[in-house]
Amino acid sequence: MRYDVLIIGGGPAGNYLATLLAGKMDVAVVEKKASFGGKACTGIIGAESFEKLGFPKEAVLNKLRGAVFYSKIQSFEIKRKAPQAYVVDRKTFERELAKRAIKGGADYFIGTTFTGFRNGKARLQHLKETFEIEADFYVGADSVASTVAREIGARNEAEFLKGYEAEVVGSFRRDFTEVWVNRELNPDFFFWVTPVSEDVARVGTFGEFEAFRRFLTERGLNPTSIVEFKAGSVGLGWRKPWVSGNVALLGDAALQIKPTTAGGIVFGAVCAHHLARAVIEGDLGSYESSCSAVRKQISFGLRVRKVFRGMSQEGIEKVFEVLGSDEAREVIEEYADFDDHLRTFRALAKKPRLLAALLKISPSLIRALL
Ligand SMILES: Cc1cc2nc3c(=O)[nH]c(=O)nc-3n(C[C@H](O)[C@H](O)[C@H](O)COP(=O)(O)OP(=O)(O)OC[C@H]3O[C@@H](n4cnc5c(N)ncnc54)[C@H](O)[C@@H]3O)c2cc1C
Repeated sequence: MRYDVLIIGGGPAGNYLATLLAGKMDVAVVEKKASFGGKACTGIIGAESFEKLGFPKEAVLNKLRGAVFYSKIQSFEIKRKAPQAYVVDRKTFERELAKRAIKGGADYFIGTTFTGFRNGKARLQHLKETFEIEADFYVGADSVASTVAREIGARNEAEFLKGYEAEVVGSFRRDFTEVWVNRELNPDFFFWVTPVSEDVARVGTFGEFEAFRRFLTERGLNPTSIVEFKAGSVGLGWRKPWVSGNVALLGDAALQIKPTTAGGIVFGAVCAHHLARAVIEGDLGSYESSCSAVRKQISFGLRVRKVFRGMSQEGIEKVFEVLGSDEAREVIEEYADFDDHLRTFRALAKKPRLLAALLKISPSLIRALL
């Protein structure tokens, strides 16, 4: 069998790329699972990016127009009139993208695992049958633990974190997500409580499982009211290279993940557009450099993460005091962009009073971020 492009991995990134290439080239997708979805993922996607990227509306479960930020001792709220982020059902999201790609002409091999390259061909396994597909280009969109990345000898300069997420029954404010930053409960990451409805929220964090358990109690949620629990992992940092010969990495396989929130759906899709263009032009050479906006966001996010890791809870309380002030909240409410935190930070830094207050807390914080 021969194709122009073989995409390995039918997650959000692989399926989205397939929708961009279907009808323009002969495309096939191999997905090792027998059905789509099922991965640990809260499914939050910035509303602006969602619309711009043309993601499937059928997958939207809830729309969020604000967030309440909690530290150990204080809280503040950011709200807007229009929804800022959507919560999606990952199964529907992936299935709808795959349907779109198939209607456009892509071939799907479900329940089929890529096991490696041999003589320039992809070796695949379906049940007990082993077969090969040859393609002009191969794309590894096969998750953080990418076999394709391993095959091309890609190296990591990254921090790998385990994530836990549960759907918990309770009583929630439907259009607001909660973000809890308490290093004493979890030194590795923040906690989120993201409603999918008034009575169910997705609650999660990255780091140690004990931290997740402690938080449930702290937040007043009942560990025996969990209707679904999932664990997964993310890699925050760099995997290099993204391209080797006629093979490219995409999405989590390339660690195209926002280090501030560990969200990867949007970055993977943005890079899919650049990769589609490179593949159609027949030259992968431009792919990495054309993703410069995503690379800049990753780089900024890694600096924010470094500052967060070095900060005490006392420091976080001071940052909360500044960000919770009327002036800061006004700026955030005007400029906050779910997928462009650099823009929000730059808008805050343009306000002399806010900049001075942040400088007073930690000059190195401002230096690192600017
Ligand atoms: C707890 C948690 C919460 C998260 N919350 C969010 C969130 O709210 N918003 C957000 O944007 N991101 C979130 N993420 C990150 C998000 O899940 C990923 O960035 C996203 O799934 C990446 O999509 P992908 O297509 O690159 O990879 P994946 O979703 O991992 O898809 C890869 C696909 O490749 C398949 N595959 C793997 N190996 C092979 C193989 N050898 N052969 C064939 N197929 C293979 C897999 O079965 C899978 O279907 C979260 C992650 C975790 C762990």
